[in-house]
Amino acid sequence: MPVDDVLHRFLLEHAGVRGAVVRLGPAWREVAGRADYPPAVRAVLGEALAASALLTGNIKLDGALSVELKSSGALRLLFAECTDHGRLRGLARWNEPLPEPLVLKALPDAGMAITIGNVERGQRYQGLVDLQHAGVADALENYFIQSEQLPARILLAANDEYAVGLMLQKMPDEGGHHAAKDDDAWSRVVHLTATLGVEELLATAPEQLLYRLYHEESVRLFEPRPLAFGCSCSRERVTGMLRSLGRDEVEAALAARGDEIEVICEFCAQRYHFDRIDAELLLSAHAAPIAPDTTQ
Ligand SMILES: [Zn+2]
Repeated sequence: MPVDDVLHRFLLEHAGVRGAVVRLGPAWREVAGRADYPPAVRAVLGEALAASALLTGNIKLDGALSVELKSSGALRLLFAECTDHGRLRGLARWNEPLPEPLVLKALPDAGMAITIGNVERGQRYQGLVDLQHAGVADALENYFIQSEQLPARILLAANDEYAVGLMLQKMPDEGGHHAAKDDDAWSRVVHLTATLGVEELLATAPEQLLYRLYHEESVRLFEPRPLAFGCSCSRERVTGMLRSLGRDEVEAALAARGDEIEVICEFCAQRYHFDRIDAELLLSAHAAPIAPDTTQ
């Protein structure tokens, strides 16, 4: 069973708790290696990336799920995305100097959102995350408790090598369900989870982690879902982005590089080239619907 770049869903059957655990190794290192991230930015990016995969665990996803933070402060943008095919990408933009420690709720004009859906089909749902918390995990945990009206726990951690996450949700009490008989189950599971340190979370393979924590509960582990770094950029999307800029900006870009435009995807470093003929074609083509925001 693979232990890196996987999402495991699980059930603590008798306790009436469902959960997911994510462990990113190569996929995280691919994302982290795209820029010279300061340690504090790298840490929150890793947490957000693990979270984007974690949150796909117990939903039926068509398209992608993204976690995005914007602010007018030192961390200008944090973006992490996981698609329904388990393709992950992410990036952060920041200004020096960074506050120490980097506290999300202290960033000016900070806003965080979870977006779920299919960009191509324009079917998107966006939920705003209340940023009354210091870190990504606390903010998302609070979001889930508010939106689903069910107790939840989310743990996230990242270092240079791994980005990991663990999520637990109390399942709704249904007639005849085991959980109804076990009122203390949720607090018992939360208590067991609280014994887990960040280092242990980062160092332990998912299966081993679940059995170590919950061996006294009955753990039902589902087939792992493989995850990998991957980018959804395409020439078509870059074309749409250039078209949305309009003629003046496209002309300026052509002029700046000897009648050629080069667009480099920030997520995957793929290069797209457009000469004058391409530019004329895309500007004259009937404006096709384009996706907003992170269209690359
Ligand atoms: Zn790309």
